Amino acid sequence: MTITFLRVRPAEQLAEPTATSRRREGTVAVEMPAPTSVEVAAGHKAGVLVVAGEVSDVGAAAWVVSPSDALALADRGVPGWRITVLAEGSKESILDALARSRASHVRSARSETSEIASLAQLPGLEVAVSVFVDDVPQALRAVEQGATDLLLRDWDIERIGELREALGDRPLVERTALPIGIEIDEAREVLPPEVFTAWLGQVDGSGAARPRYEWAPGKDMEPPVPDDRFSAEWLDRSWVGGTPAAYPRSAGPLESILERSLQGIAPTVSEIESMFRARGDQIDAIAHVADVLRERAVGDTVTYVVNRNINYTNLCYFRCGFCAFSKGPRSLNLRGEPYLMGLDEIVERAVEAWGRGATEVTLQGGIHPDFTGNFYVDVVKSIKAELPDMHIHGFTPLEVWQGAETIGIPVRRFLEELQAAGLGTLPGTAAEILDDDVRAHLCPDKIRTSQWAEVMITAHELGLRATSTIMFGHIDHPRSWANHLEVIRQIQRRTGGFTEMVPLPFVHMGSPIFLKGKSRPGPTWDEVVLIHAVSRIALDGLVPNIQASWVKLGLDGGRRLLDAGCNDLGGTLMGEIITRAAGAAHGQELTPQQFRDAIEAAGRQPALRSTTYEILDASQSENVGS
Ligand code: SF4
Repeated sequence: MTITFLRVRPAEQLAEPTATSRRREGTVAVEMPAPTSVEVAAGHKAGVLVVAGEVSDVGAAAWVVSPSDALALADRGVPGWRITVLAEGSKESILDALARSRASHVRSARSETSEIASLAQLPGLEVAVSVFVDDVPQALRAVEQGATDLLLRDWDIERIGELREALGDRPLVERTALPIGIEIDEAREVLPPEVFTAWLGQVDGSGAARPRYEWAPGKDMEPPVPDDRFSAEWLDRSWVGGTPAAYPRSAGPLESILERSLQGIAPTVSEIESMFRARGDQIDAIAHVADVLRERAVGDTVTYVVNRNINYTNLCYFRCGFCAFSKGPRSLNLRGEPYLMGLDEIVERAVEAWGRGATEVTLQGGIHPDFTGNFYVDVVKSIKAELPDMHIHGFTPLEVWQGAETIGIPVRRFLEELQAAGLGTLPGTAAEILDDDVRAHLCPDKIRTSQWAEVMITAHELGLRATSTIMFGHIDHPRSWANHLEVIRQIQRRTGGFTEMVPLPFVHMGSPIFLKGKSRPGPTWDEVVLIHAVSRIALDGLVPNIQASWVKLGLDGGRRLLDAGCNDLGGTLMGEIITRAAGAAHGQELTPQQFRDAIEAAGRQPALRSTTYEILDASQSENVGS
């Protein structure tokens, strides 16, 4: 059984400097008998959630209260996942409060743990037993007596590491003031906005507490994980310097899913979701299996493509919450200058790329209010007139949908026109997360999952192949990732048209949805590993290529993922600006030599490829970037 823990500090008063120093020490929650709204706000500024000991309206995240106050909170409509019942008074009153408030936790004195645990185990209750513990022996005793949630006042990561070791096979997972597993949609609906923002800053996609490293996709930092590990959930000396558990022992309860995957039996959607909830050693096990499947599917070759991104405009009338690239009209005074390239400039850039050895131009941009489908057709014709052999990888399903709509023809006919003009393949962007519950908040006016699928299926039927993507780490969660992979699998089983899967970690720094306090600060490193590795496992036998995006992760991050199911590092790009706009520090282009060096350093064989994964003669691109 999983044991959770909360790093919480009791306090009578709270000011921002104290809250900030508590947060630096690792505390995620401060518990106060009677907090004021000023103290709650101070906690939020420091990224700490405040737990109140009395029923009040000061904006606390959660309450630890007597059985009668728990019932009062329930009467006010407070969900049980914000309530901890203090085990005080009669057994009957505690049981009544737990049953009727549906509290997520009951807090016991250490001396009464066994008794309260037997109450909590009654059928009909789903409640964790919380106990304050001051050292590892106390914690082990409490767990033996039935505690499932440990309250740690001032434990550092080394002591928590000792506890993890002492617990052996029982996984230890950190929570916030709220339980693990609260989905973001419910939290958004229930929590005051400031609490929601502070909570988002503390959690990963499963609602567990994030590890405390500074690393995030787009930051110019090495992955926060030792070379022989994939999971960075733990950073104590014992984890970093210890010997990783070998597969299959490391898989724990996921072993049967992974064993069946190794036998070629695809995981179900719920099994994919279970893999996305993996932690610690289990992540290493998933990466190991993904690596075996990668080796079987495509061998040791790691590919890259020499290409150029041409983002012809950053003007866009859509309102995707995550997008730092698009600008409204200048009158709206949005950051940066809006621009629109003319056809001549687009062709000039393509010609320049061809001269530098590019075999592909990737065309995508904002949806300019003046664009019609004719613009996209003209762009393709103009490039092809100058460069008949250049592969044009262009236009997201959103651009295709909007292009067809603006000239009043069906998507199929529009795609036929683009194909006749010389379009080669479609990028699978604009997918973000193919789960409409997430899209409703992330990109409310963008095409929905079924429309994205309709464009892709039609394109594939016409012989236009495409990439697939998933953009993760914002307001999504394991269920939505599993749903996304299922959409890709369903399309691929029908058409076989996807060439690759490209996971795109959310770069949060300049993203509007993050700056407004409505998203997480990108995925954790563990989530990055999981999305790539589980994509390999879930798409085994369907999509042969999994790409690691150096633009989001840097070459170092990309190289690490080559051992977690990936076999492609993407393209040279020559002037990528979309991710830069979101605050990423990684370069705007790489040379083929840099790709080759990184791939060889990882012990694999580099190979130059075309957009559709034919292996090309690398000597053709020798001078690129020089
Ligand atoms: S993601 Fe694309 S469609 Fe959405 S706002 Fe940005 S440029 Fe426009």
